[in-house]
Amino acid sequence: MRFCPLVIKPLWARLTAAILLPVALVTLTLTPIFTSHVKERVDSSRQSAESLLASEYQLLLRSMNESFNQVLATAENPLLRRILPRQASAQTPTWGLAAQSDWEQLEALFDTLLTHFGRYTRLAVIDTLGREWVSTSTAPLLTRPPVTDHWTSPAFQGAMSLQPRDLYVSPPHLCVSGEEESPVATAIDIATPIVDDQGERLGVLLFTLDWSRLTATLPHAREDSPGEALLVDARGQWLLPSSDGSRERFGHSLTERWPAAWAAMSIRNQGIATLDDHLLAYRSHDLRTQHYRSQAGMILSDPDTQPWHLGILMTRPSLWRLLMENPVQLLAIALVYLLSVAFGVYWVLSNHRLRELRQRALTFSREARQYAGEVQDLYHYAPCGYHSLDSDGRVIKINRTELDWLGYRADEVIEKRHYRDFVTPETRAAFDAAFQKVLGEGQEGSAECELLCRDGTRLPVAIQGKAHVTEDGFQYSRATVFDLSERKALEARLEKQALTDPLTGLGNRRALKDQAAIEIARSERSRAPLSLIAIDLDHFKCINDTYGHDVGDLVLQAFAKLARQVLRDGDVLCRMGGEEFAVLLPDTNREQALQVAERLREAIATTPAKVGRDATEEGTLAYTASFGATLVCAGEATLKPAIKRADSGLYAAKEAGRNRVQWEEA
Ligand code: GH3
Ligand code: MG
Ligand code: MG
Repeated sequence: MRFCPLVIKPLWARLTAAILLPVALVTLTLTPIFTSHVKERVDSSRQSAESLLASEYQLLLRSMNESFNQVLATAENPLLRRILPRQASAQTPTWGLAAQSDWEQLEALFDTLLTHFGRYTRLAVIDTLGREWVSTSTAPLLTRPPVTDHWTSPAFQGAMSLQPRDLYVSPPHLCVSGEEESPVATAIDIATPIVDDQGERLGVLLFTLDWSRLTATLPHAREDSPGEALLVDARGQWLLPSSDGSRERFGHSLTERWPAAWAAMSIRNQGIATLDDHLLAYRSHDLRTQHYRSQAGMILSDPDTQPWHLGILMTRPSLWRLLMENPVQLLAIALVYLLSVAFGVYWVLSNHRLRELRQRALTFSREARQYAGEVQDLYHYAPCGYHSLDSDGRVIKINRTELDWLGYRADEVIEKRHYRDFVTPETRAAFDAAFQKVLGEGQEGSAECELLCRDGTRLPVAIQGKAHVTEDGFQYSRATVFDLSERKALEARLEKQALTDPLTGLGNRRALKDQAAIEIARSERSRAPLSLIAIDLDHFKCINDTYGHDVGDLVLQAFAKLARQVLRDGDVLCRMGGEEFAVLLPDTNREQALQVAERLREAIATTPAKVGRDATEEGTLAYTASFGATLVCAGEATLKPAIKRADSGLYAAKEAGRNRVQWEEA
């Protein structure tokens, strides 16, 4: 079986393969490179997400701890212990009951905390009945002393149930900011009990933290951050304001917005999850844990909201993003694909063209071989002979037809025989003359010759030759040979017909004339006498009239047959026309001619013609003929005068009574 490298036949299928294969190859080559590149980027993103998470976690921890410590430290300030007992007896908080200086000192302290740390929005001192005695806020000042009933607030209730140095921390919540531009703010309340030296509970210290300020350092708020922070409580509620400062996300449910992220964070305390096109590094942390209790005793908070889940969200590097980061790289890859496809298409098209050319060449060579075979057949089996002779007249090529005529094999003739050897000596001169003519380039020559065949027969042919010169200067003649034997035979037949009388088979007047020319010439050469006898059947009209024309014809044929029997072979008997005949007698003198005529007359007179019983009773018919004889005289170029004389003799014989011979002297 022949190995076929590409079995797909139609061009469209090959083109499709030429596009798909390079694309597949390039993809196969590039994929491992880019996959490892992407994997590296994913690993690095994972690492940076984890390290960012760790740092953010520490940051949040520090900020919260700082606030806790400040609350605890403030709660132990002696000013509070001095102010609160004095107000306890009062029904309503009234300004001025405490020492003016204590108030001022405490307010100055609160102002310092507010302005220095910036994260607090409100600092309040509350007595055991929930009344607020000292308050400082970033909001416009309320009427002094503010009277706010904290009795039912979770912070007051929580802190009142705690021991000294314990803390109550509320979940982040929305509160009135007092600012016109954004009236709602997110805040966290931190509260701790205020206890005197004897351990008696004096009230509660409440710090309200601006939650957005506290979380301002988290990456969700930073524009240059590679990731985004995510902070939700135990129920999945969003605890961070949006990165653009608005609070639209705050309090929204992550479980609804991003179930996959929530599912990952809620199952494990710490880890890293891959979410569609994001990486999420996360860890949970509980406010009530040891981390926050460095200074505090116990931390109380809403148990439903703890622990919090802090996450760092990063865009997951993908191949497409990688490419989009670097347009030059994208362009280079596109170029590689384009070039490989272009190469594939070019290869297929050129291969297709090559196949077509090869196919055409194959067809052409097949046709050429067939054509050459046909030409060879035409050459060898043509109805005429073909041969080529070198400049010496040696046969260098000859077709089978001519070989068959000659009766030789090719190996006996080619390069071994001169063509003129096959020409009869009689016609060789004509051949030589024609051959001499075709020795010059482009010359033509022809000759009618006779070929001498192996079996001794002679073949009349017409040879038409033409000279040729090959590219390397070799000169040869190429000739076509026509068999003239049929033509010659036909000519001879026609010639014979032209000279023969069809009824009797004798020569006619023209034959006598031709033969006479030969005999006169011979007679002149040999000086032998030449005689002529004119014969006319007697009363032939009467035979026709009596027995019919057909019987007349039978009589004419009977006469011819009889006369031929009586005459010698060399005598020339011809029918001159009608019932008139003539005999040319070579080498015959007067006496001999008269004898011949007399013998003939007698034979006729005694030999009735066979005419059949339909014509006569006996089937025969007797007839006679009259004869006029003369000598062809020396010097007579034609037979005309002799015929005239013989006719005169004949006329005389008729006159004398018919059935007789009359000599006419020259
Ligand atoms: P005579 O003895 O004087 O020669 O008389 P004749 O009747 O033979 O002479 P004539 O010339 O008057 O007649 C010749 C006849 O020969 C006339 C013609 O019909 C006949 N004839 C000529 N050619 C043919 C032929 O080919 N066949 C036949 N049957 N008759 C022929
Ligand atoms: Mg006659
Ligand atoms: Mg007659």
